[in-house]
Amino acid sequence: MATSAAARKPEAPKALPVPNGDFYQLVELLSPEELALVKKVRAYMDSKVKPIVNKYWSDDAFPFELLPSFKELGIGGLGYEGYGCAGGSQKQFGFVAMELARVDASVCTFFGVHSGLAMGSIYLDGSEEQKQKWLPQMARWEKIGCFGLTEPLVGSAASGGLTTTAKRDGNSWILNGQKRWIGNSPWCDVSIIWARDVADNQVKGFIVENKSSPGFSVEKMEHKIALKVVQNGQITLKDVRVPEANRLQGGNSFRDTARVLRMTRYMVGWASTGIQMGAFEATLKYTQERLQFGKPIASFQLVQDLLAKMLGNVTACQCMMLRLAQLDDEGKLGDHHAALAKAFCTAKARETVSWGRELFGGNGIIADYNIGRFFADAEALYSYEGTYQMQNLIVGKAITGISAFV
Ligand SMILES: Cc1cc2nc3c(=O)[nH]c(=O)nc-3n(C[C@H](O)[C@H](O)[C@H](O)COP(=O)(O)OP(=O)(O)OC[C@H]3O[C@@H](n4cnc5c(N)ncnc54)[C@H](O)[C@@H]3O)c2cc1C
Repeated sequence: MATSAAARKPEAPKALPVPNGDFYQLVELLSPEELALVKKVRAYMDSKVKPIVNKYWSDDAFPFELLPSFKELGIGGLGYEGYGCAGGSQKQFGFVAMELARVDASVCTFFGVHSGLAMGSIYLDGSEEQKQKWLPQMARWEKIGCFGLTEPLVGSAASGGLTTTAKRDGNSWILNGQKRWIGNSPWCDVSIIWARDVADNQVKGFIVENKSSPGFSVEKMEHKIALKVVQNGQITLKDVRVPEANRLQGGNSFRDTARVLRMTRYMVGWASTGIQMGAFEATLKYTQERLQFGKPIASFQLVQDLLAKMLGNVTACQCMMLRLAQLDDEGKLGDHHAALAKAFCTAKARETVSWGRELFGGNGIIADYNIGRFFADAEALYSYEGTYQMQNLIVGKAITGISAFV
């Protein structure tokens, strides 16, 4: 007997797919050990960082309360072999960076500055003795580092234009100058400072124990509109004395600085992919839940068009970064490879987060909804570690054989 329409039970709402920014299932390419670490990082970021990060972002403050548990993740020195470092493949390193940025790009940047730029300078340009001395304690996060290259008057032109000087004086060096934008510097323990040797005009790197070095001072940079959780500082070096033992023994010209930047630009490619994953997943969820005209906004064709374009960007960047990871693991990663990925993925990130922000309507500019933070943070990734234009000039030189640098 047919049931009347009135007697029929109302249908339970259809379960909608859970947002997943890994559309091509790249996670299946990880080994079980790699996957376990990536899952651990995801669980940590979702449970510990996500609930509190918007508050810290709005307050322009670093979540020191997270440091003890963050250290427990065991990701200090990821991708480096030996010296108490976490080791592992470049692919794993990339996935971890992506997971950090999927929840918060500032936390990823904090990790990148310490483990990538500061530890990486010592790992790539330090002597055996320097690596033995510094890397184990930095891998355990007992000493936290920063990387001072950019200056108030010299950003993109750092390779040839650094004005901070290093003058040899017996068995030590005297550093003078200023550094700007230096992440972690207002509170960290160890600063890698790049300065021009007045004797041979070459850029050299110095490990400065900033808390116990007279003449070293830092002013926190205020009023940032992106990556507000990372603390950036302007460093002043006034006759700072550094022992020769703390000069990076393998850092004898800007070419050696560039090796560090190659590795960290690779990481920014992953980070800007992670931001896009986070933005895509948050946006998809919002559009599934937000009703207008009596329907979820995800049901509208124009909304699905933007969601599909966001996912296209995420997936293109993931695939590009995965191939780059293979090149890196095979020792074939060149400056031009890293530069192309950094430029492409950060540009796509800007596009992806702006579509996400658009789909949140007015709520897209409120920090509580996460997308506003992704939107602002993507701007910083686009400019730091070398701007979009600088990356494309590196690529341009490689593909044409002609340098367009002035
Ligand atoms: C959030 C944040 C964190 C940072 N953290 C650090 C850090 O920890 N350590 C560190 O050393 N630095 C850090 N930086 C500095 C960063 O690397 C520089 O901001 C970046 O290299 C650009 O330099 P600039 O800001 O001086 O811009 P500029 O060099 O003044 O560039 C301004 C504009 O001019 C363009 N331009 C310049 N020259 C050319 C050219 N020849 N052709 C075409 N276009 C050109 C640039 O692409 C850009 O669009 C950070 C920056 C930010 C924003």
